Amino acid sequence: MTTRITIVGAGIIGLATARAINRRLPEAAVTVVDKASTVAAHQSGHNSGVLHSGIYYTPGSMRARTCREGLQLMEAYCDENQIPWKRCGKVIVATREDELKRLDALRSRGLENGVDCTKIDRQALGDIEPHVNGLAGLHVPSTGVVDYVSVCQTLARELNGHGKLLLNQGVRRIERRSGHARIITDGAQWDSDLVISCCGLHADRVARASGTRSGIRILPFRGEYWKLRPTAAPMVRGLVYPVPDPAMPFLGVHFTRTIHDDVEAGPSAVPALSREGYRWGDINLFDAMESACALRTWKLAARWWKNGLGEIHRSLSSTQALQSMRHLLPELGAGDIERSVSGVRAQAVDRDGRLIDDFLIEADGPVIHVLNAPSPAATASLAIAEQIVDRGLVQLESRED
Ligand SMILES: Cc1cc2nc3c(=O)[nH]c(=O)nc-3n(C[C@H](O)[C@H](O)[C@H](O)COP(=O)(O)OP(=O)(O)OC[C@H]3O[C@@H](n4cnc5c(N)ncnc54)[C@H](O)[C@@H]3O)c2cc1C
Repeated sequence: MTTRITIVGAGIIGLATARAINRRLPEAAVTVVDKASTVAAHQSGHNSGVLHSGIYYTPGSMRARTCREGLQLMEAYCDENQIPWKRCGKVIVATREDELKRLDALRSRGLENGVDCTKIDRQALGDIEPHVNGLAGLHVPSTGVVDYVSVCQTLARELNGHGKLLLNQGVRRIERRSGHARIITDGAQWDSDLVISCCGLHADRVARASGTRSGIRILPFRGEYWKLRPTAAPMVRGLVYPVPDPAMPFLGVHFTRTIHDDVEAGPSAVPALSREGYRWGDINLFDAMESACALRTWKLAARWWKNGLGEIHRSLSSTQALQSMRHLLPELGAGDIERSVSGVRAQAVDRDGRLIDDFLIEADGPVIHVLNAPSPAATASLAIAEQIVDRGLVQLESRED
């Protein structure tokens, strides 16, 4: 009998998983369903477009492993499908004395993760990025840029050959029946032997709607970008990052010369008042109240209130935003930047208000949930998809026994 598999979510994780299933279980009937009217409607279509090298992540973690592997798979996939991408390299720049030690620690971590990275002095930094101010830097040649929307559209076209893509259909419930699951959407229902939920900003809600008690809650953090005006854009040749705070999962405001040759600065990290809130004015009372009433939000806020206030200040004040950019690019003037797009990150938080650092995938009977897939999940998507399919095969086999 044909194995029926439903993937909820047509972001990059869901679509990459559909491709992996087709390659490993070509006889399976795959349906990808999304509540939005296009693929890549949320995080996968609103990000920095960076192909990460894997330097930052805890050695041995799923993030570290799948980022390195996923980067190679993604480069090969783009080549096979004529999707433009570029290995432009990046510099991570220390602008203060106290960041030099952290830069060394980051280099050791990168080497442990198998990432080629070289410490460079002020002069070498100036040769790579002449307008950037720094005491020293790390040069990471393997980092690149791509347009993840193009990647998702290509994955969706590939799916058309062997599976179904249903858009504009929100999944309301997933009911467990004996040996299978029933998917109930706004306007239809069907049965599947395996359901894989890749719902990003709604991962926790879809888990609850399937009867899974995951214990995690998604908190949405908006990342706002600025853009360098064409006259200022030549100041940045490639990718320029600050030294990240080791305790913060977000990487800080950085400059990215995108695959479309624009230079973006950002993203910030401010609490979003709606799970799909791309501007301050986007308020969803249910989402905002749900976050505000959760004890874990307050526990998180108690730890991070200072960073949070700084981010909110930078979000509301262009002077503050410019000030933070000028740490790296001191020549930038007020007339050189303009507000640009934004994205909302889905960040899983545990009951103690701690941000979940690693990717998190949990299987519960016929349903597999991707509960935390923050950056670099777009880079790592093709490798994450292989791991999801490994889990899926175990779930399917366990029911055959
Ligand atoms: C600002 C920002 C910058 C980033 N920069 C980078 C970067 O440079 N490099 C990198 O590798 N990663 C980056 N990331 C991370 C990366 O974009 C995400 O990790 C990745 O896109 C996650 O993909 P996803 O498929 O899990 O989620 P999504 O793309 O959010 O897809 C989830 C899908 O599920 C659908 N859905 C939700 N609920 C339901 C439901 N009930 N029924 C049906 N459909 C549903 C949604 O409509 C959505 O289409 C960034 C993220 C952000 C937000």
